Amino acid sequence: MKAPAFRYLAPDTLAEALRLLAWEQNARVLAGGQSLVAMLNMRFAFPDCLIDINRVAELAYLRESDGGIEIGAMTRQRDVEFSPLVARRLPLWREAILQVGHRQTRNRGTVGGSLCQLDPSAELPTVALAMDAELTAASVRGERRLRMADFFAGYMTPALEADEILTSIRVQPWPAGHGHAFLEFARRCGDFAIVSVAALVALDASGRLARVSLTLGGVAAAPLRMPAVEAALTGSHGVEDDLDQAARLCGEVVATGDSQVPAWYRQRLASVLARRALALALARACAHEEGPP
Ligand SMILES: Cc1cc2nc3c(=O)[nH]c(=O)nc-3n(C[C@H](O)[C@H](O)[C@H](O)COP(=O)(O)OP(=O)(O)OC[C@H]3O[C@@H](n4cnc5c(N)ncnc54)[C@H](O)[C@@H]3O)c2cc1C
Repeated sequence: MKAPAFRYLAPDTLAEALRLLAWEQNARVLAGGQSLVAMLNMRFAFPDCLIDINRVAELAYLRESDGGIEIGAMTRQRDVEFSPLVARRLPLWREAILQVGHRQTRNRGTVGGSLCQLDPSAELPTVALAMDAELTAASVRGERRLRMADFFAGYMTPALEADEILTSIRVQPWPAGHGHAFLEFARRCGDFAIVSVAALVALDASGRLARVSLTLGGVAAAPLRMPAVEAALTGSHGVEDDLDQAARLCGEVVATGDSQVPAWYRQRLASVLARRALALALARACAHEEGPP
């Protein structure tokens, strides 16, 4: 099928893009187009106007500021993949982004586009939630900040007003020496995950788990943080029994069943992948502790 007819506008600045978005009725922002163009062609979306923000250079950057990492919404996924800053300070993001689609889709697809598309199985919303990312949305009315945890307004629906553009994502890196793991199960390499797991752990001086973050992607309409698992693991040594208990709790999550797989299959994957991800994150944290041989 072909896309329905729409007007096409391509502003050069954020201010102009926001002005157009405030003025136009039923307009949609076009970022990398890797999801939106398919939705147009399949007639899942009927905008009267597309506002292409690919020329808005001020939205594409990756930088360190006040100890955090700021990612412009129009930063290509491929730039995140190859960023030494991300590899050094946000290893979880790098591990996850390598599993987003294909290099061709990552060349065009943007970080902001993936967050706004909010596919339940998408890797970037999952890691953004795992790391308590802070988002900035802009409109002609000004800027506002919102937490990733508050960005899920419904199934594939971001908490943005019709005249707002997501402009940046701010992530606070975990301290040096933390352990990370992003694991997923998909039918074929490059497919959307059926279930994914993002795990982060930090150890204290006695080798106990001082801080834990565990997030499941793909199991429900939006990624799920697992606070009960995080609380149960914090203070433990992360021994086999602790990981077994964490896996059991993840297996009890309320999961979605659909034409692809039943709910019990997602629960089983959540349990198995969570255990593996926690064990890998823990092993990496321990390797940091011990240092090079
Ligand atoms: C073959 C294929 C495989 C894929 N596999 C995966 C995968 O495994 N994992 C995965 O996560 N994704 C996958 N994708 C999707 C891909 O990651 C997209 O890049 C992403 O979902 C959307 O990013 P985009 O920049 O292309 O956004 P677009 O498609 O341009 O936009 C997506 C939506 O977000 C809105 N939007 C975009 N940017 C903004 C903004 N700054 N402010 C407000 N609204 C905005 C748009 O209006 C639209 O509604 C795949 C895509 C393809 C074609």
